[in-house]
Amino acid sequence: MMQLPLIDTFGRLHNNLRISVTDRCNIRCFYCMPAEDVVFMDRQDLLTFEEIERFVRLVVPLGITELRLTGGEPLVRRDLDKLVQMLAAIPGITDIGLTTNGLLLADQAEALHAAGLRRINISLDALDPVKFKQFTRREGYEQVRAGIAAAQRVGFDPIKINAVSVRGMTEDEIVPFGHFARETGIEVRFIEYMPLDADNAWERNKVLYAQEIIDRLSADVMPLEPVGDQDPHAPASDFAFADGVGRIGFISSISQPFCMSCNRLRITADGKLRNCLFSMEETDLRTLLRSDAPDEQLWTAVRASVAAKKEGHEINTARFVQPLRPMYSIGG
Ligand code: SAM
Ligand code: SF4
Repeated sequence: MMQLPLIDTFGRLHNNLRISVTDRCNIRCFYCMPAEDVVFMDRQDLLTFEEIERFVRLVVPLGITELRLTGGEPLVRRDLDKLVQMLAAIPGITDIGLTTNGLLLADQAEALHAAGLRRINISLDALDPVKFKQFTRREGYEQVRAGIAAAQRVGFDPIKINAVSVRGMTEDEIVPFGHFARETGIEVRFIEYMPLDADNAWERNKVLYAQEIIDRLSADVMPLEPVGDQDPHAPASDFAFADGVGRIGFISSISQPFCMSCNRLRITADGKLRNCLFSMEETDLRTLLRSDAPDEQLWTAVRASVAAKKEGHEINTARFVQPLRPMYSIGG
């Protein structure tokens, strides 16, 4: 039974659900996790694959068509390919993506592809192993490169690299990533550093803005030009080098917020629905799912969350308050 779509009070239609499958991670990126002593969710608090599947089946009639699996590091959740297979079989789901740090990808790429996954974003902030360790506080650069190579070999399409941009830290990575995009054909997307770090160390002056990166690439690699036909709901603005070789995206959450075209909802690994990365309120779906609440009750809860969605994040105002959950606990 088709129902009214999930349109919020600002007219935004929600068709995209990001599903966090764990808050655990095998590295400790400084802009996301604390370096040590992370307190993870109890395993029994994580939604099971069956609970996730039931929830997705339930929101398809509300207009959800696109899913992205994330975390924490989604590939540390055992048998993730089984979840992909379960979700890919749901009629109405037209697109499933995964965001991963890539460390375990070489081992899992084939099974994930066979399960029906096609779109993959791999996070990598540096093309230099020493810098990689500095950012992630762990070893693993070669494993990520092997993961990228495996993703290419298996045939994922598109493959995108996500690189967080932090002033004073990542400037030297800009030009190498420009060449990487040209040489591999993989789109590199620079993400402005957001106030979602567990250490609460974010400051505005640490944000390396998209425009500065565009200027740097245009001067030191080749001029960048905006590409046409962009998905109006995609958070990234896409550019290509002037000779058409190499694509670069910018997720300018701070300098050019894209909240008014947001089409996303998020469910955390412990089953809380969030209508925004930065929201202060959550809807407890796990209790409903575990108490065998009827579909109608879950639909009402989802609609209430969408209806309560704010106009946008308030990072650029004095009112901004960083959410209690850091990025790894929300699901980026
Ligand atoms: N572990 C996976 C990974 O790193 O790709 C998936 C989860 S991670 C939270 C999702 C994305 O959020 C990554 O691309 C990561 O770089 C990005 N991210 C994490 N903390 C961030 C922050 N404070 N500002 C901007 N992006 C951030
Ligand atoms: Fe882990 Fe991803 Fe957070 Fe890095 S950004 S610590 S890989 S969850």
